[in-house]
Amino acid sequence: MVVASHRARVGALVAALTAGVLVLGSGAWALGAAVFPHEDAASARSRIAVRPSPTASPSPVAVAVQTPSPTPTPTFDKAANSIDDPRSVWVVVNKSRALNPVDYVPPDLVQPPVPNINGQPVRQIVSGPLATMFAAAKSEAGLSLTLQSGYRSYQTQVSVYDQDVAANGQAYADTDTARPGHSEHQTGLSVDISAASGECTLNACFGQTAEGRWLAANAWRFGFLLRYPSDKVPVTGFTYEPWHFRYIGLPLATELHDAGVTTLEEYFGVPGGETYPG
Ligand code: ZN
Repeated sequence: MVVASHRARVGALVAALTAGVLVLGSGAWALGAAVFPHEDAASARSRIAVRPSPTASPSPVAVAVQTPSPTPTPTFDKAANSIDDPRSVWVVVNKSRALNPVDYVPPDLVQPPVPNINGQPVRQIVSGPLATMFAAAKSEAGLSLTLQSGYRSYQTQVSVYDQDVAANGQAYADTDTARPGHSEHQTGLSVDISAASGECTLNACFGQTAEGRWLAANAWRFGFLLRYPSDKVPVTGFTYEPWHFRYIGLPLATELHDAGVTTLEEYFGVPGGETYPG
């Protein structure tokens, strides 16, 4: 459809160009010479002489001819990065898509230069954008953010999940804690963010705080995605988490923002859902 509309624009431009040349009449001497630079003056004159309406004044169409055609937006390459490789910033991990290998450990974990409650690292590629986003929240809106959690290992996730099951039962645990090997936190690309004030930390009401609202509106500018939106629980398989942001890189974050798509599952057309297969 992009091609079709581009063709339509080109067609309109050609029509406008033709019309512009025709209505310019005697004023088209210079244009004729410019359009047909390899003709001698006599042949150019004879062609222009047969054109209709030699006395017509230049119309707005002639002005429109001068407007450069807008550059078509290149189609975003959805295959530019892997969504299966756990090292890829585009990897899609959910209840239907386990990390492979299931006990994957990121190769480049670092401590990001931001306030960090649990002291958990993130991947190198996340560290800079995270710090830049925290600084922007401060400078643009006067908000102080804190990193609540970052990378969690397979073994840590085993403990977190088992504790949730013991406390709340497996059915409940599966709604709010990923099974080991199915957690985005194991990629080192996901962060839980809280307000420095501690208001609504890891609670749905964080979405109504100034910090939560700022993050929801601006995280994409730094390459992050609010991964579990309130209206996409059946798609992502996880309850609304206004504190959980996934680094996906600026190009994809911008693409999702511009396209109005809020989940990786929908954008890449891959399964998610609220139940584990098997
Ligand atoms: Zn999280």
